[in-house]
Amino acid sequence: MRRLLVDVVDYPEPGIIFKDITPLLGDPAGFAEVVESLAVAGVESAGEVDVVVGMEARGFILAAPIALHLGVGFVPVRKAGKLPRETHAVSYDLEYGAATLEVHRDAIAPGQRVLLVDDVLATGGTVAATRELVERCGGVVAGVAVLLELSFLPGRAQVADLPVVALDVV
Ligand code: AMP
Repeated sequence: MRRLLVDVVDYPEPGIIFKDITPLLGDPAGFAEVVESLAVAGVESAGEVDVVVGMEARGFILAAPIALHLGVGFVPVRKAGKLPRETHAVSYDLEYGAATLEVHRDAIAPGQRVLLVDDVLATGGTVAATRELVERCGGVVAGVAVLLELSFLPGRAQVADLPVVALDVV
């Protein structure tokens, strides 16, 4: 996986090392292995889940095949204004400015156990906001699964009470 994740220095702004997953996505054997490994590791740490939630946009690419692998539904969490029916919305702070994420109100039934999937866990703001959306629906976040954790940022601390699995940590 390390060979297929490419560091892009100073993108999208100076000081950021962007982890580009597109070479991994273009490698069918690597992509398949990552999907399977993340699905297995996710339920090993979170327990059985009813739903996999992916965050726009790179979370979708991983969460959808993981949901299929686990035989459960996929729910997209989208940026503001993209979902056509009634939503819950949560706003949170980014390094610069703010963002709003939304989920369809009926996408997760009360009591359903949910695995959150994204490519990179950085500051943890995205995961924490998504957790709030799941809980507003009445769901329970059972765990978080990411390809890569940036351990020099406080992502894990934002969801310290949840199991978090990462295939790699830098
Ligand atoms: P955060 O909310 O800070 O944990 O950021 C997580 C979101 O931002 C994820 O959806 C990632 O796709 C993206 N992200 C943050 N930092 C990076 C990075 N260094 N490389 C690639 N994606 C990143």
